[in-house]
Amino acid sequence: MEKIIGLMGAMPDEIAPIAARMAQRAEEKIGGVTFTTGVIGGKRAVLCCAGMGKAQAAAAVQLLATHFGATHIVFSGIAGNVSGRVGVGDVIVGGEVVYHDGEPRMFAETYPHLQSFHCDEGMIAAALDACRACGVTAVRGKIATGDCFVGDRATKAAIVAKCAPDCVEMEGAAVAHIAAKNDLPCVILRAISDNADEAGFEKLVVKQFDVADYCETAARVSAALLERI
Ligand code: SAH
Repeated sequence: MEKIIGLMGAMPDEIAPIAARMAQRAEEKIGGVTFTTGVIGGKRAVLCCAGMGKAQAAAAVQLLATHFGATHIVFSGIAGNVSGRVGVGDVIVGGEVVYHDGEPRMFAETYPHLQSFHCDEGMIAAALDACRACGVTAVRGKIATGDCFVGDRATKAAIVAKCAPDCVEMEGAAVAHIAAKNDLPCVILRAISDNADEAGFEKLVVKQFDVADYCETAARVSAALLERI
């Protein structure tokens, strides 16, 4: 079966430079989301900006799976640093992905009966290798997802106490959950944009971390990753 890679991000900035690298591009708008189909890194791909938060991420994964026939899901975005194992601009490739809010035990009462999710080993290895090839420092780590931006030390400490992740963001667990529900392998790449504390918003807005710069890099990493899937 031909591979079709569903490539997604939460913000338009994360997606535009990837779209610019796609050949044979065509667009289709469905469920309020614009999907761009084409070829990148020698693979057929479907790219979209899902929007931020768990609900929007989940809806986009389902459309990638059932409308576009994606066989693999790749999420590329930014995140707040929690463990400090890497620095701003470096990448965490999700190994385990968990919800830090909601009721995971209740979510797990129905299929696929999982409270935490695991990215695909082959895709994790491919992502780490793609980052290396692009000169980006990357480590495998734990990602925690919730619907709020984490921008204060008390919330960050509560999340550490609950699940001790390497970074926090707002989509990964929903992506991995719906991918698992559809039996699709997935991987989540997160570049560290801030430290999930009071300075976090400043870091993003005042641009000690330049999201646009990283998004360019992310687009190169995505192409290199698709070559390796
Ligand atoms: N464009 C917004 C920034 C949004 S940051 C602005 O300029 O104000 C939120 C997005 O980045 C979400 O998609 C989330 O997944 C990720 N993210 C980055 N840092 C985060 C943090 N500290 N807490 C939660 N999500 C974070």
